[in-house]
Amino acid sequence: MKPFTLLIKPSGSDCNIDCRYCFYKHRSPDAGKGRQRMSDEVLEKLVADYMQTGFDVVGFAWQGGEPTLMGLDFFKRAVELQIKYGTTAQQISNKIQTNGILLDEKWCRFFHDKKFLLGISIDGPEKFHNVYRVEHADEMFDFLVQNDLTYV
Ligand code: SF4
Repeated sequence: MKPFTLLIKPSGSDCNIDCRYCFYKHRSPDAGKGRQRMSDEVLEKLVADYMQTGFDVVGFAWQGGEPTLMGLDFFKRAVELQIKYGTTAQQISNKIQTNGILLDEKWCRFFHDKKFLLGISIDGPEKFHNVYRVEHADEMFDFLVQNDLTYV
């Protein structure tokens, strides 16, 4: 088996905003009714099986929907499990793609300390971003300004 990056959608297609162009959020009925959340048991099995492939480099890519709906403790647990089931020879990477709505100091501190590659989905400058992301759009740009991040 060749090494690969594992793409994980722990909250399925659930999202906390409703972009007008989203092709995915309203797929929830395809996956069954109700809230979509990965259980602790599935998380542990997923991490254990992947780490035990023995690849030198293992990559976890978290996305959604909106993966931060899982809560910060879920990702702390994921990192603990990666250490538990991995070996010291393995190089572990985590990437997360988020709309940024729920991010705060605690999330950012965690991503920094655990060396997550953080991707925040932005549609462009504020006037364009707000056209299709009609909910919470201002919060997104407030976050960027408060954290001295600049859209380029
Ligand atoms: S942030 Fe992504 S998943 Fe959420 S509604 Fe927008 S496009 Fe869909």
